[in-house]
Amino acid sequence: MSTDKKVALISGANKGIGLETARQLGKKGITVLLGARDLARGEAAAESLKKDGIDAKAIKFDVVNTADIKAAAEKVEKEYGKLDILINNAGVMTEPIGGNNSSTVSEQVLRDTFETNFFSVIAVTNAFLPLLKKSDAGRIVNVSSILGSLTLHANEGSPIYGAKALAYDSSKTALNSYTVHLAHELKETGIKVNSAHPGWVKTDLGTDAAPMDVVDGAKTEVELATLGPDGPTAGFFHLGEAISW
Ligand code: NAP
Repeated sequence: MSTDKKVALISGANKGIGLETARQLGKKGITVLLGARDLARGEAAAESLKKDGIDAKAIKFDVVNTADIKAAAEKVEKEYGKLDILINNAGVMTEPIGGNNSSTVSEQVLRDTFETNFFSVIAVTNAFLPLLKKSDAGRIVNVSSILGSLTLHANEGSPIYGAKALAYDSSKTALNSYTVHLAHELKETGIKVNSAHPGWVKTDLGTDAAPMDVVDGAKTEVELATLGPDGPTAGFFHLGEAISW
């Protein structure tokens, strides 16, 4: 089956920035598929959007589970015949920010963080690429972080200079590299690939100390998901401003 309506899949959309991104895309008339590793929590989130008149559906989707990825891609193919927007939003951070843990972080934390924040993004994107190629205007948004910026981490005057957490930061640096490489491969296809820094946002991951609420925190993902044909690709942005790699 194929649909004229735009279809977006957002990973990790049962809460936080992912759920708010789904809400804002849904308000624009886009069908939103909420990826959630716990289907019941995904369905509760989708119900909350449906009450606002949004066409929302939950998909059981643990991004580190190969069977889930395959089943989700088959489901989207069967029900919609294409995918217009993929937002790789699911992410984890299990270290304290500013912990200065480069010599002490465990190998397990490094591997687990990269599994979710980097390797899964490649597996998920590869599974959905054939469906994105069926869209008139495929958009891939990799949800990164300013903490992945090597330029800013190396600059003593930058606001993140003291906020180092090796596993999380380097997983987002690697994700940014993927953005640039994939955008290059897809240059002639019309599919745009960008990295988003949402801002420091009040969520379970961002904590209550964060200055931004989720409404503003979702704006960068939404902007990059709905770029027009003249919009950028291979970029790293926060609220329309480029961030140093
Ligand atoms: P959050 O509220 O903790 O939400 C994270 C989401 O990712 C949850 O839905 C979580 O699901 C999901 N997730 C984690 N591992 C998953 C897996 N294996 N499979 C599927 N879903 C998984 O955090 P958030 O702040 O909204 O973060 C969203 C993205 O923004 C992340 O990539 C994060 O790195 C990035 N970011 C956040 C901030 C910030 O200040 N908040 C700043 C920069 C970048 P469960 O509920 O099942 O755990």
